[in-house]
Amino acid sequence: MNNQITVIVGTQWGDEGKGKITDFFAQQSDYVVRFQGGNNAGHTLVVGDEVYKLHLIPSGVLYPKAVSIIGNGVVVDPKVLLEEISELQKRDIEPNLKVSQRAHVIMPYHIAMDEAISSHQGQLAAGSTKRGIAPVCADKVYRHGIRVGDLLEPKLFKEKLVKSYNFNKDIIEKVFNNSFDNTLENIFSEYLEYGKQLAKYITDTEVELFQAFKQNKKILLEGAQGMSLDPDHGMYPHGTSTNNVAGYASVGTGVGFNCISRVVGITKAYVSRVGNSPFVTELPEAEAKALRDKGNEYGTTTGRPRRVGWIDLVQIRQAVRVSGVTDLAIMKLDILAGFPEIKVCVAYDINGERVEEMPASLTKLRIAKPIYEILPGWSDMNDEQITELVKNGYNALPENMKKYIEFIENKVGVKATIVSIGPKRSQTILR
Ligand code: GDP
Repeated sequence: MNNQITVIVGTQWGDEGKGKITDFFAQQSDYVVRFQGGNNAGHTLVVGDEVYKLHLIPSGVLYPKAVSIIGNGVVVDPKVLLEEISELQKRDIEPNLKVSQRAHVIMPYHIAMDEAISSHQGQLAAGSTKRGIAPVCADKVYRHGIRVGDLLEPKLFKEKLVKSYNFNKDIIEKVFNNSFDNTLENIFSEYLEYGKQLAKYITDTEVELFQAFKQNKKILLEGAQGMSLDPDHGMYPHGTSTNNVAGYASVGTGVGFNCISRVVGITKAYVSRVGNSPFVTELPEAEAKALRDKGNEYGTTTGRPRRVGWIDLVQIRQAVRVSGVTDLAIMKLDILAGFPEIKVCVAYDINGERVEEMPASLTKLRIAKPIYEILPGWSDMNDEQITELVKNGYNALPENMKKYIEFIENKVGVKATIVSIGPKRSQTILR
């Protein structure tokens, strides 16, 4: 099959290591496109000794050949975007960036609203990063949202802002009894200024991508977060507000879905989770710390310690099904090295019943217990040993690591064509 358009999605709760694989594919891509999420996501890229943390700009920005696109499905905080551009410029990278005029803009009242809604929702809140993502998505659906292109048209921007501002201010103040003091005039002039600064990047990215496709260019559609955070297929309501399954790559970029040929599902060798929700394979705190510290499981954006646990194949199987995953990339296998045995959750026990497919019911998820199969571990590896392993390819990997990979493949029905055993670009094996 022609792999002209590839989608990368997370198969767990995000933080699987999508950044590394996106970066890996970006080397061969003409376009790297974000299709959902906002600056609630974060990728860490390691290039040589340099570490780059990107929240909005696609990972392809580190390659001069690739055009980076922020698609219409992304929600954009222009202030954060300008800061990210300026950070890259300080490091001598001039982003080859285009931003869809159809992407929605996060406004200051969305951030204030996020704060109010998160307190209101309490235990049922998603564990929001409070960057205004849910409120901007709500305004999009209410149909009084502000789009990036509006920032370039002062008259229209003002007309829409009056509606959006008043609606949000009233709810923040009259429903939630919080205060919101930023004036409409102040926001109007601040955001017009952002529009001016971003003008050279704003364009009709959907048409550009279509033309690129016609010209046989290679396009990478880069997802953020992971399947269990998807508002339709994840553990609703403990998720995010923009869909992140592969089908949304078409919606969030304007690329026809039948043009997409390859879907790479990024799967961490264990699981981590930020925020509330049932987490069937979660390790108790006494056991979690070692894995969390070894895997450096602290949020890229927030620094929050992540909950960690064993891999959950009920979750991966669902991700493979709903995203049509064609290839798995199994990440961070080096982090599991040194554990004498490794548990793999193959099904859930819910009230004594064996359940193989992800339940929709939150009640069932709350009481689900993992059914584990236990596999033997492999020894710790230093950097030199990893380099040697990569040189010698898949067959040279420790037998028990291969057994682990092949066990996952058999249980979810997709081949792991990419195996990652370290954070560096070079620490990757292709099969
Ligand atoms: P993303 O949101 O899915 O892109 O994930 P993050 O970038 O937040 O987290 C992935 C982290 O794991 C980053 O710090 C990567 O450098 C690191 N990483 C990726 N792959 C590997 C791997 O195979 N081994 C190790 N040790 N670290 C990895």
